[in-house]
Amino acid sequence: MMVKMENVAKSFGTLEVLKNINFQVTKGEVVCIIGPSGSGKSTILRCLNHLERITAGRVYIEGELVDERVGGRDQLKISHKRVSEICTELGMVFQRFNLFPHMTVLENIIEAPVTVKKLAKEEAVKYALELLKKVGLEDKRDEYPSRLSGGQQQRVAIARALAMKPKIMLFDEPTSALDPELVGEVLEVMKDLAREGMTMIVVTHEMGFAKEVANRVLFMDRGEILEEDTPHNIFSNPRNERTKSFLQKVL
Ligand code: ADP
Ligand code: MG
Repeated sequence: MMVKMENVAKSFGTLEVLKNINFQVTKGEVVCIIGPSGSGKSTILRCLNHLERITAGRVYIEGELVDERVGGRDQLKISHKRVSEICTELGMVFQRFNLFPHMTVLENIIEAPVTVKKLAKEEAVKYALELLKKVGLEDKRDEYPSRLSGGQQQRVAIARALAMKPKIMLFDEPTSALDPELVGEVLEVMKDLAREGMTMIVVTHEMGFAKEVANRVLFMDRGEILEEDTPHNIFSNPRNERTKSFLQKVL
């Protein structure tokens, strides 16, 4: 079990954006989260990596309790330092590529390994070059992000996340900001990662990707997981009326 949420709720003031969320992801699984805008998909990812604290329930990463709130009281026993350590096991890729604009591709990738993990620079560079090869951008090592297409920037962002050797990769609509002709190259990199056995949680509107790659699909609406099933069942035989009507709009 790599990730688990147990009875998780999250509110911003009086706005309840996650209600009674329960799911888990096992090693090597690819789970896609689909659902309308504002349904809480990003908030789930943000609660997994402690960018947000939950308002009820429990969050586990690799079996370790990283957030717990019971009866409105913070019950978390482990230190902030330990939480940060555990969160480095999670790689995150956002809709916007978030590369450092004043750094070259290579500098972007080695930044965290060198400053956070205290990896020797030569070692970080060696691994960064392997990763650039993997995402097909070896020749761009010395370019600045502004000189790359959106698809290339997103592939660099994936390489940068992988440079920390995460055990789990979280993707939040990684292709939504891309021109349509650039979506495929990013999805290919993600498919390769899935084939290599990476545990992945992918918020996406790319139903083709979900069908082809996901082991499971979660459908969210208004802060709840309404349906959870294999891609085959979700797409060809959705049980929930709201899943049906959502899929009719997007497929
Ligand atoms: P999705 O990713 O499915 O589009 P989000 O998780 O981003 O949805 O948002 C779910 C709901 O939570 C939305 O109504 C959004 O406006 C609200 N929300 C998200 N973050 C905040 C925040 N920091 N403060 C207040 N409301 C927020
Ligand atoms: Mg979102």
